[in-house]
Amino acid sequence: METILLLVAAEEDGGLGKPALEAATAARELAARLEGAKLLAGIFGAQAGRAGAALAGAGFGEALLVEHESLARARFATDAAACQALVAASGASLVLAPATSRLQRVLAAVSARCRGAVDTHATALGAESGAVHATRWFYRQRMVGRVSRERRPWFLSLEPGVFAPHAASGDLVSRPVPAPLPESRTRVEGLRSPSSGAQTIRPDAPLLFVAGAGWCKKQADGLAHVSEAERLILGFLGKSGASLGGSKSVVDQKGEGGALSFLTHLNQVGQTGSTPRHAKGLATCCHGEEPHTVGWRFVSGRRAVNLDANCGWAQGKADVLYVADAFKVMARVNELLAG
Ligand SMILES: Cc1cc2nc3c(=O)[nH]c(=O)nc-3n(C[C@H](O)[C@H](O)[C@H](O)COP(=O)(O)OP(=O)(O)OC[C@H]3O[C@@H](n4cnc5c(N)ncnc54)[C@H](O)[C@@H]3O)c2cc1C
Repeated sequence: METILLLVAAEEDGGLGKPALEAATAARELAARLEGAKLLAGIFGAQAGRAGAALAGAGFGEALLVEHESLARARFATDAAACQALVAASGASLVLAPATSRLQRVLAAVSARCRGAVDTHATALGAESGAVHATRWFYRQRMVGRVSRERRPWFLSLEPGVFAPHAASGDLVSRPVPAPLPESRTRVEGLRSPSSGAQTIRPDAPLLFVAGAGWCKKQADGLAHVSEAERLILGFLGKSGASLGGSKSVVDQKGEGGALSFLTHLNQVGQTGSTPRHAKGLATCCHGEEPHTVGWRFVSGRRAVNLDANCGWAQGKADVLYVADAFKVMARVNELLAG
C-alpha cells in the first residue's frame, strides 16, 4: 500500500504556485488509482500554514508543515532539511513534487538522504495492478519512456503545464513537523530582474513569438535595422502578451554586439534550447532548421514569416508560411492590434 506525499513550497505570500496546484491534481488522480493509498501533503515555507488552504478538497488526509522564516526564499541547505523532515514524518513511499527550480534543486539530495530513488520531469503517472509508473521524455523530447521502480521512497518531479491546477474547496487539517534547519551563512538581500527589464518569457501565454537572426541582418537597403526590429518585437509582445523565443543564431549574437538587447540564451528554443508548450507559435526571420524546430515539438499551431519561400518552415514544418518581409508584416500587425 502506497503512502503518497505531495511536496510543495509555499510562495512568499502564503499561496501555492500553479505547478504545485497541478501536482496536487496529479497526486489525487494517482491516489484514486491505487487501492488503499494514503495521500498527504507536505508544505514548507515562511507561511506554510496559510498555503495549506489551497490544497483543501484534493483528498489529502492532512497537511504536514515546516514553517520557518528562513524558508521564505529558496536555499539548498534549509529547503533540503525541511523536505527531509516532511518525508520522514509522512513515512511516504511515493513523493511527488512540481518540477520547479526550487524543488528540482533539492529533490535528488533529499532522495539520497532518505535512501530513495528519484526521477524527474514526469509528464504522466499511472498504475497497473498496484504498480506505479511514470512517463517522461528522453534525449530532449525525442523518445518517450515509462519508468517504474521498486525502491522506496520513490521521488518524482512533475513537469508543469501537464495537469489541471487544483481549485481549493473545504478545509484541510494541518500538523506542524519539527525540522532541524541548519544555520545559514547566506542572507537574501533582494531580487534583481533580468537585464531586459521586461519579462519576455511567459510560459502561460497562448502564443510563442520566435525571433530569428534575420531581424539583425542587412535588409534590402543594405543596412541592418536592429533598433526598428526591437521596437516592432517589443511592441508586439506588449500588445499580444505573447512569450518571446529566439533561434540559436540570434541569441548567440549577444556576445558579438548588434543583437536584440532583450534576448538571452534563456529565450533560445530548440535542440540545445527550450521546448516550450504554447498552443501556437509564430516564427519570424527564422529559417526553421531542424535543430531549431525540434524545440517546437509541443507547439501544434505553427506559422512563420520569411522572405525565403524555400526556408525550412516550407518543408512541412509550419501550417502556414507567409513569404513576406517580417518588418512590414509586424508593423501592420501592431497597427491592427493598436485598433
Ligand atoms: C548541435 C546543434 C544544435 C543546435 N541547436 C539549436 C537550437 O537549440 N536552437 C536553434 O535555434 N538553433 C540551433 N542550432 C542552429 C541551427 O542549425 C540554425 O543555425 C539556427 O537555428 C539558425 O537560426 P536562424 O534561422 O535565426 O538564422 P538564419 O539561418 O540566419 O536565418 C535567418 C532567416 O531570416 C530570414 N529573413 C531575413 N530578413 C527577413 C525579413 N525581413 N523578413 C522575413 N525573413 C527574413 C532569412 O530568409 C533567413 O531564412 C543548432 C545547431 C547544431 C549543429
